[in-house]
Amino acid sequence: MEILLSERKEGVRVSDAELVVRSTRVVTPEGTRAASVTVSAGRITAVLPHDGPLPEGARLEDFGDHVLLPGLVDTHVHVNDPGRTEWEGFWTATRAAAAGGITTLVDMPLNSLPPTTTVDHLRTKQAVAAAKAHIDVGFWGGALPDNVKELRPLHDAGVFGFKAFLSPSGVDEFPHLDQGRLGHSLTEIAGFDGLLIVHAEDPHHLDTAPQQGGPRYADFLASRPRHAEDSAIAGLIEVAKRLHARVHVLHLSSSDALPLIAAAKAEGVRITVETCPHYLTLTAEEVPDGASEFKCCPPIREAANQDLLWQALADGTIDCVVTDHSPSTADLKTPDFATAWGGISGLQLSLAAVWTEARRRGHGLEDVVRWMSTRTAELVGLDAHKGAIAPGRDADFAVLAPDETFTVDPAALQHRNRVTAYAGRTLHGVVKSTWLRGERIVAGGEFTAPKGRLLTRPH
Ligand SMILES: [Zn+2]
Repeated sequence: MEILLSERKEGVRVSDAELVVRSTRVVTPEGTRAASVTVSAGRITAVLPHDGPLPEGARLEDFGDHVLLPGLVDTHVHVNDPGRTEWEGFWTATRAAAAGGITTLVDMPLNSLPPTTTVDHLRTKQAVAAAKAHIDVGFWGGALPDNVKELRPLHDAGVFGFKAFLSPSGVDEFPHLDQGRLGHSLTEIAGFDGLLIVHAEDPHHLDTAPQQGGPRYADFLASRPRHAEDSAIAGLIEVAKRLHARVHVLHLSSSDALPLIAAAKAEGVRITVETCPHYLTLTAEEVPDGASEFKCCPPIREAANQDLLWQALADGTIDCVVTDHSPSTADLKTPDFATAWGGISGLQLSLAAVWTEARRRGHGLEDVVRWMSTRTAELVGLDAHKGAIAPGRDADFAVLAPDETFTVDPAALQHRNRVTAYAGRTLHGVVKSTWLRGERIVAGGEFTAPKGRLLTRPH
């Protein structure tokens, strides 16, 4: 009963636990170990020795040797609901996420109609998501050239930050910011110490790159050169530094930008960076011509570029990994890379895809958890609630068989449109079940009724 006493000191009453989840491999912030995790009212109350006595009346779920991970937090998802629900919607997106071990997603402000650029629009989106969310859902706001006065009200209404494009976004209702407008919006956002998240490609470099069009991947790659990213990131660093503002680089693909980012971080610029499973696991060399399910912006680059992204994850220059799940209907994925919709569907597969490549490169699941759960929770200020198996956090779990493999069959995915760049790949890591606040929400392809909540930025 020594454990009970020490836990009581921290104000946690283990004896109240209604659930104990047990595994020989629990990934905690202190490492992976055999443990029993007690849960009360949807929260973790303690991480106890594996074989210790159970609190009286608690139900035991023993996962044996399957690994217990904190549920993943994916801060970059385009749900497109309402308005383009034929591309994806909250029902299908959150089921796909749950099936892939993700328990929290933050929805991007564009590709839905309306975009999340006013408080009214946010309310519309929240109302649509509320009844369909199988996992917890939060929202980013959008920073447009003409909505600066909406930013503070959106911040007060609970968005996690603001997305801006520095080059055309792909949809007319979400125009990009030029360097002057970027400074204007960021000044406003810095005024309440908010976060600006940026699609960083420089439109001048895109305009002067060769625009061949057609089905050849090499031509598409040449049309979105690395220096378009590098130049935009350099400009962003400059303005963030001047305004002492918090900025985040979305979906980094160009490894040439890494020295710039590392130098800015060393100098104390408030900048964080994400990359995506497709940049880490797919290479330009293997994209078949005409295969626009591989099209995204910035593009998937060469194998040598990918090696440097992995190195940057290992040394912390890149902070986190998110899906940038951005589907469309299959008919928009035409064989011409210039006109095809740009976006990769990976929500259900992101954990397995990243884990498959991570293990090959000698990384552990602790690293994957840090990149896909702990650091993403920190990015959006949810780290008191999500992102780790530790007392006080929500009892959100993924139960993973890390050595089991499966071959990706698009028809078996929960995404609304079963088009994916991962089709036919054999991946390691099968999610056996996913838990949200102590309740199992999916196991073996069987889902419960939606139990997700709408999240707002903690104050
Ligand atoms: Zn995106």
